[in-house]
Amino acid sequence: MTQETWGQARELLVARVGKNNYTTWIEPLKLVTLDHGVAQFEVPTTFFGNWVSRNFADHILAQLQQNGATVQRVEFAVVRDGEPKAEVKRPAPASLSRPLVRPTRPVDEELPGAPLDSRFTFDSFVVGKPNELAHAAARRVAEGGPVTFNPLFLYGGVGLGKTHLMHAIAHELQARQPELRVIYLSAEQFMYRFVQALRERQIMDFKEIFRSVDVLMVDDVQFIAGKDSTQEEFFHTFNALVDQNKQIVISADRAPGEIKDLEERIRSRLQCGLVVDLHPTDYELRLGILQTKAEHYRAQYRGLQIANGVLEFLAHRITTNVRVLEGALTRLFAFASLVGREITLDLAQDCLADILRASDRKLTIEEIQRKVAEHYNIRLSDMIGPKRLRNIARPRQVAMYLAKQLTSRSLPEIGRRFGGRDHTTIMHGVRKIEELMATDSQLSDDLQLLKRLLQS
Ligand code: ADP
Ligand code: MG
Repeated sequence: MTQETWGQARELLVARVGKNNYTTWIEPLKLVTLDHGVAQFEVPTTFFGNWVSRNFADHILAQLQQNGATVQRVEFAVVRDGEPKAEVKRPAPASLSRPLVRPTRPVDEELPGAPLDSRFTFDSFVVGKPNELAHAAARRVAEGGPVTFNPLFLYGGVGLGKTHLMHAIAHELQARQPELRVIYLSAEQFMYRFVQALRERQIMDFKEIFRSVDVLMVDDVQFIAGKDSTQEEFFHTFNALVDQNKQIVISADRAPGEIKDLEERIRSRLQCGLVVDLHPTDYELRLGILQTKAEHYRAQYRGLQIANGVLEFLAHRITTNVRVLEGALTRLFAFASLVGREITLDLAQDCLADILRASDRKLTIEEIQRKVAEHYNIRLSDMIGPKRLRNIARPRQVAMYLAKQLTSRSLPEIGRRFGGRDHTTIMHGVRKIEELMATDSQLSDDLQLLKRLLQS
């Protein structure tokens, strides 16, 4: 086989792998030799070789064979000192000598990130009070202008749209600036790749890849808590990118200060940028989301009718998270179309009985403590701890008051959950807040907000 055969085969690969993959991964390949049915290609880095080998080897082989080459296997090797070395999948020698050929810069989403969900765009994201700040911050980052806050730290409970917003940022950035190198992945995947790189002695490649991106997004970062070497590597990657003024977006299920087993230096760096939380959904947002999704379904299941009041009912009853809400609607439409009936309140109650039952949840004292601690920016542990400083004791009393008001727990029960305090202490706290509320308008605003958050 000559270089020409490869040249022809290569052109035809565009159709198989797509334009982006082609320019990033196929074009830089150089055919070095073809001996005994083995075609050997030169690649710029070990990582590159592994990636191509894992993702495109079959396509390349098939295309070569179709173009008439006698070949049974393809190999990818890094060139050192002008000599192609052995197959890259074998563990590289521990030497740190860099490949002669500099890596070409992959320029599209085929970086070692996770795939993006095409449905998670800004267009499909419904904005309401609970998420408007997070949405605005995400929009700002997606504009791709000068980096104004770094990192953007999004946090909130399960199913409130963190991942959706991150994907939306990535989509938007790719659309506006296709040349940007954007990596989105979960902290778990980051760890996995890191460990893999360690094992395969490709840590230099790993560092190179992660430090050469323009935008790094790491989802569910609470996952690296307690994983010491991964934290260390994450910290260095993070710093390297911040130093180069590259945008970082992080998500977690709680605020940086509340992630246990996170190194202090990482915590403080995470707090350096903009920290925004996605609040639990409120009724209006839930209804908005349902209406948007129902619109899509109505188009999909042509002719399927949905009775007035059904969406309102669902928005009222399913308060856990958006994922559950979506699931309920999906099931409802599927079921109704199957039985060929209009979606009525009765049908919804039948079809969604289990979800509705599970959503009948009771507010816990722990949730109240958490929300109040978050609101006043104190530690959850101080809620139950002994500190008597006003700036801690007052929020604690607010939590006691809300626990009395919003749950059916008795005073002694509440006392137990506040670090074993006596029921008279709880009573005193509740009275104190009732008294202050009458004169302190800031406090009564706080209480109103907290009640709304807890009950939504
Ligand atoms: P998280 O990452 O916070 O756990 P996700 O981003 O995965 O949550 O969201 C869960 C599901 O709910 C996804 O299907 C997402 O599209 C949907 N969702 C969440 N918030 C919204 C919103 N404001 N508008 C539309 N869909 C939403
Ligand atoms: Mg998520």
